[in-house]
Amino acid sequence: DGEAVGAVGIDVESGEIVLVESSAVILAAGGLTKLYKRNSASINMGGEAFSLALHAGAELIDMEFVQFFPIGHLAPRMVGMDPIMWDPFRYKVGGRLLNGNFEEFIHNYGASDSGTYTARRDVASYAIYKEVEEGRGSPHGGVWLSFDHISEDVMKEKFGPMIGRLAKNGIDLQKSAIEVSPIAHYHMGGIRVDTQMKTRVPGLYAAGEAVGGANGATRLSGNAIPEAFVFGERAGRFSAAFAKGRSRMPIEEAAATAIISEPKFQLKKGAKPDGSATALMTELQSLMWDKVGLFRTGEKLEQALLRIRTMKKDDLRNIIIPDNAPFNQALLDWYELRAGLLCAESVTLAAINRTESRGAHQREDITEASPEFERNQTVELSGDELVTGWAEVPRISYTLEAKQAAVI
Ligand SMILES: Cc1cc2nc3c(=O)[nH]c(=O)nc-3n(C[C@H](O)[C@H](O)[C@H](O)COP(=O)(O)OP(=O)(O)OC[C@H]3O[C@@H](n4cnc5c(N)ncnc54)[C@H](O)[C@@H]3O)c2cc1C
Repeated sequence: DGEAVGAVGIDVESGEIVLVESSAVILAAGGLTKLYKRNSASINMGGEAFSLALHAGAELIDMEFVQFFPIGHLAPRMVGMDPIMWDPFRYKVGGRLLNGNFEEFIHNYGASDSGTYTARRDVASYAIYKEVEEGRGSPHGGVWLSFDHISEDVMKEKFGPMIGRLAKNGIDLQKSAIEVSPIAHYHMGGIRVDTQMKTRVPGLYAAGEAVGGANGATRLSGNAIPEAFVFGERAGRFSAAFAKGRSRMPIEEAAATAIISEPKFQLKKGAKPDGSATALMTELQSLMWDKVGLFRTGEKLEQALLRIRTMKKDDLRNIIIPDNAPFNQALLDWYELRAGLLCAESVTLAAINRTESRGAHQREDITEASPEFERNQTVELSGDELVTGWAEVPRISYTLEAKQAAVI
């Protein structure tokens, strides 16, 4: 009846279908950066919150805006450390970005970086991308980040215990530079909610990176974690108020089971896992990186959309899944791929429609921002088809109140 009444899932250990009845549901399953070949995502950040929201009847917003972090770790191999750790150190200590010929290059792209190291993320990403494209990249296809001009004392003071952790990875910044290149890091788009974190589906809320629209076309560093805290608190508070006093509606078991049993004709007793879903996910990651990545063109986006739709319509449906109830990883991979393809299609479609460059959405074929696109784009599911629309950007003016800080 167009209302959120709970959730349906799989108990991975037993393979049984689990129904959770609830008067309110909060979607908080993170972003979608795993859909890109190079990413800083955790293992399951493949956009399942967005897919769940679409299927429940909610709208997505700003899906074309994926943030790429310019200097993600590339080489040598580094285990157990954050791939985006280099940024604060570059600012604090003054690391130099050098191309494959060991020359500084950021100044060639209209930014002043020398001595200040404050080129904007999008400018640094563009400069690195272009250096590599023009054959001036480092051996693994990025650029060098060098600290060899900084004294050992300063390095020890600023890096502290990190020096030891880097040493365990065989990295000595005093002796050699490391290689860095852009990496998909955060999704500005997501589920459309109001200030109470409510979607347009009664009882359905969202929180964290799953929420879209709060950051505009790009995100300022450091905003995501406060956002997750604030949105989480608000979603909890307002969903609890909504649920309070409402009688819980029973979930229709047949309807719920049908949702989760979608691949039932693809389940085969005795079949061996052949890795088809993971192979397709790998292909999708490369496709998104190459054609829906940092710098887009209408042509590349159309090619991506065509392939994503074929993967969704044919390849996904042709995967044979072994019917092994407990710990059926092949089945989980199939669900993840299904969600990932829907999200990839949403991002690509929205990127095609935004025929301008703005923030994290940069098109090489249309390099300027256009006032007519100072709008949010929405995506919703109608039957099996994604439908896009436009919404006016809410413009709210606040008056800041002067307050005296408490003296401790
Ligand atoms: C390496 C890295 C460094 C960062 N550094 C900063 C920083 O310094 N400052 C800052 O502000 N932001 C930073 N960010 C961004 C910020 O951390 C994230 O935006 C934020 O943590 C998102 O929180 P979340 O709870 O919404 O999602 P997540 O932390 O991604 O949590 C989502 C949860 O949902 C679970 N899940 C996924 N799918 C399903 C499913 N189908 N069913 C059930 N559960 C599911 C996942 O297992 C996970 O536990 C960083 C991000 C990364 C990746």
